[in-house]
Amino acid sequence: MKAIRIHQYGPPEVMQIEEIEPLQPKAGQILVEVKAAGVNPVDTYIRSGNYHLKKELPFTPGFDAAGVILQVGSDVKNLYAGQRVYTSDSLTGTYAQQTLCLPHHIHPLPDSVSFEEGAAIGIPYGTAWRALFQRGHAVSGERVLIHGASGGVGIAAVQLAAAAGLRVIATAGTPAGRQLVQQQGTQAVFDHYDPDHFQKIFELTKGVDLLLEMLANLNLDRDMDILAKGGRLVIIGSRGRIEIDPRKAMAGELNIHGLMLMNASLQELQEIYSGIEKGLLQGKLKPVISRCLPLHQAAHAHREIIESPHLGKIILLP
Ligand code: NAP
Repeated sequence: MKAIRIHQYGPPEVMQIEEIEPLQPKAGQILVEVKAAGVNPVDTYIRSGNYHLKKELPFTPGFDAAGVILQVGSDVKNLYAGQRVYTSDSLTGTYAQQTLCLPHHIHPLPDSVSFEEGAAIGIPYGTAWRALFQRGHAVSGERVLIHGASGGVGIAAVQLAAAAGLRVIATAGTPAGRQLVQQQGTQAVFDHYDPDHFQKIFELTKGVDLLLEMLANLNLDRDMDILAKGGRLVIIGSRGRIEIDPRKAMAGELNIHGLMLMNASLQELQEIYSGIEKGLLQGKLKPVISRCLPLHQAAHAHREIIESPHLGKIILLP
């Protein structure tokens, strides 16, 4: 089978397509035929070698995929060959024609959701759910700002928040991004490259109750200016350091929470993915695909996700 392999950490070009031995599930494992694989920023951090999570070389990158179960190992219950599924983690990586998973990596894919859409769910919707409900304790009617809403996690967060009855304000960096985000159920969308957008959001909302932050190293200090008293901020993404004024957190009695999806317990994962399944079945959640690329263009996909403006997810087709 074909797979992207990384033999040394480094720039996107260290990813090469290779022919490798087909995979065999051991006891407790599930073999999935990958129809589409989702590209996430974390895949690029791991590939670079500059991330706390290291993989043994050589390895196949990727956590998210959608496809069909080919075979289940002994001791696997409630999953069967032929079942449509999506993954949110993998033992062997998802940038490949096959991937091996554990039962809690696998979730049923409703017939109404395409494989490309399925590959856009695992990490983005899982992270958005954890940010809103497990770390952010969102309540219907509250004002939430999704700061960076045009990418995978942001669009998922807008859809989940709107479905939960929150009043959603969001940001994106391009006119096309703002138009796309507006269509997902927001009340207002601002440009996060406009230095005045913090003030404009405050004028509109008089302070947001909850703020999900995709780029904390740029925004954290100013974010504290636009939270309501007692407001909560969830740091989802950050790519560097920032100086903040802690007095802002004191004056507003703000609650600043970190988030790492990988820290979710099995019980929390169960809550996350059963909630997402409900939203998919009700048609309230609909992943947005920006582009599908053939598997051998994985390096191009990694450059795009870091360097280009976002309009949803990039998907690889094996
Ligand atoms: P993505 O699809 O690459 O999207 C990145 C988003 O960041 C886009 O909406 C982009 O908007 C936005 N952005 C760019 N400049 C910004 C700014 N100045 N202020 C606010 N937002 C800005 O990435 P993703 O999958 O949505 O993930 C978002 C971040 O969360 C990434 O850093 C990722 O590594 C992180 N993440 C963390 C976890 C965790 O467990 N903590 C899990 C998943 C993701 P434009 O392109 O429109 O400018």
